[in-house]
Amino acid sequence: MHTIYLSLGSNLGDRKDYLSRAIAELRAGGLDVKRVSSIYETEPVGPHSQPWFLNIVVEAETELFPTQLLERIQGIELRLGRRRIVDQGPRTIDIDILFYGNFQIHSERLTVPHPRLEQRRFVLEPLLELAPDLRHPISHLTISELRASTPDHSTVRRLDPAERWHENPGRPATGPRP
Ligand code: ADP
Ligand code: MG
Repeated sequence: MHTIYLSLGSNLGDRKDYLSRAIAELRAGGLDVKRVSSIYETEPVGPHSQPWFLNIVVEAETELFPTQLLERIQGIELRLGRRRIVDQGPRTIDIDILFYGNFQIHSERLTVPHPRLEQRRFVLEPLLELAPDLRHPISHLTISELRASTPDHSTVRRLDPAERWHENPGRPATGPRP
């Protein structure tokens, strides 16, 4: 069993519903989701003008191998309507592998730990909530330390509890879809 951390983000359509459906699909696809961070509303970073994101981090346990995990994640992205139109452009759902235990992976398809997590406040803030003392397997810095020294000062706003999930996260959404 390996403990993994995933970053999920959405900035198109019913963003909260996409996050919730992605968690349900992760559960159905072989991940034992242990904890889910609060939802954060975050300023888009990158080259394009686009809507704000909702971001979360998920802690899970799995027996899937890293490449199997990537395939599951990409299947979920496709099923939830993700189209790669522009690089770093708007998306219904983006799921990135942040950590896979203490493994270091450098393959054509996969780099773990995620190489840009230190430069992304939208990853570090929700991750801090779940695992402040977790150490990065390469730099050996904790998430608290990484958050304190990140050069990213974009806006990341934690939603109030009342603004978060309407029901249990991970339950498949019901009702009409936009
Ligand atoms: P981004 O998340 O950087 O905006 P994409 O989601 O389109 O971009 O992912 C592009 C590619 O990144 C994927 O096809 C995948 O093979 C690769 N990749 C490399 N490392 C990771 C990782 N740790 N998590 C998820 N995808 C990764
Ligand atoms: Mg991605």
